[in-house]
Amino acid sequence: MVLTDRVYVPSAVEKDGSVVGMGCFSSQETALNVLRSFLKKSHQVEMERASVAAWDVDVVGEDAVTVLSEYECRTCPVCHRTTFWIDIERFKAHCYGSSCSAWIEESSAEVDVINCGWPPTRFAEQVGSVEEAMQTLRRIAAKAESAGTSVTEPSFQTDFE
Ligand SMILES: [Zn+2]
Repeated sequence: MVLTDRVYVPSAVEKDGSVVGMGCFSSQETALNVLRSFLKKSHQVEMERASVAAWDVDVVGEDAVTVLSEYECRTCPVCHRTTFWIDIERFKAHCYGSSCSAWIEESSAEVDVINCGWPPTRFAEQVGSVEEAMQTLRRIAAKAESAGTSVTEPSFQTDFE
């Protein structure tokens, strides 16, 4: 048996193609935490995608790397910042922007059921497609805005962080 050392590497790619390195870590947990705190600030620079990969040390070539999770950057339907990240393996999207946390997720129990929500207003709904979920969230944001509430107001605290 060959024992190899494994390191976990979060990284992100900017719109212009340049790669943002965030270090390499001995645990997947730490790598994910580092990536998450980076995603919170993704509205400051235009990002394209992000990932966490496991690299085996002293292994040559493609076999050395395993991509654990990959995310794509979108504009958030609620706060309109580019902090809405989609986990592309299993459809799961979450806004990492401060005071927002809008989310869309495929139901793990039922086929063709998409859940979406916006924690600051405790809004949650089940819809039939991702498109519908985006529209639902846009509608909720428009409602909040027309009621005079800024969707990125600091008084909007999220339930989880
Ligand atoms: Zn948002």
